[in-house]
Amino acid sequence: MIVDSHCHLDFEDFSVDLDEVIDRAMENGVGEMLTICTHLSRFQNILDIAERYSNVWCTVGVHPHESESEGQKTAERLIELSRHPKVIGVGETGLDYHYNHSSSEKQCQNFLSHISAAQQTGLPLIIHSRNADKNMIEILESEYKSCPFTGVMHCFSSGLELALKAVEIGLYISFSGIITFNKAQEVRDIAKQLPHNRLLVETDSPFLAPVPNRGKRNEPSYVVHTVSQLADIINVNQTDLINITTANFHTLFDTR
Ligand SMILES: [Zn+2]
Ligand SMILES: [Zn+2]
Repeated sequence: MIVDSHCHLDFEDFSVDLDEVIDRAMENGVGEMLTICTHLSRFQNILDIAERYSNVWCTVGVHPHESESEGQKTAERLIELSRHPKVIGVGETGLDYHYNHSSSEKQCQNFLSHISAAQQTGLPLIIHSRNADKNMIEILESEYKSCPFTGVMHCFSSGLELALKAVEIGLYISFSGIITFNKAQEVRDIAKQLPHNRLLVETDSPFLAPVPNRGKRNEPSYVVHTVSQLADIINVNQTDLINITTANFHTLFDTR
């Protein structure tokens, strides 16, 4: 079974038909999903979803976009909320200098509290990075040196140097529907250069629906298109890639 390692099942887009969405995922071989927290103010909704479905896990965190509105939370608050058996990661966090919905200072501060929570709990970090390669590399390097942590660079669309640095410190790299987009040749070229034991797949739904569903609402069942594209890119068969990415997910995340 495939794991969708990053989706947002609490978003409005799924408010009327979440049961059907989860059923369709299962029918398409997607056995588990990790629904990712973006707002602490919505954490309870996320937890409710994770508690309702036995094959859905969740995280706790503040998206870089919300660093100004919600990012003043301390690592202690994140740690406290992470003490629930369904919470298996910290994030999503990171840096987004493409949209700059929050200042870079606030984004860095917010990111550092998440890293600290990950260092203290041992939970993997879910890292979002866009147009921020240089800063991201600096922070990952120096924080890892001061105290190791684990995690995943989600929806990877950054440069090769960041990918290799992340792999060097033990992080995983997750690919989304972006790898099915025509213009994403650079991302496909990077995927070929990564060790198979660090690869994950995700939808990032409701965003970024892969070809042939591009433009529609994305949902976990569509991760099959990302799987088949990634299998072609790295030249392994689809069943092997499913086994590899699912095993990787369970190595990184503790789903007991
Ligand atoms: Zn993200
Ligand atoms: Zn996300």
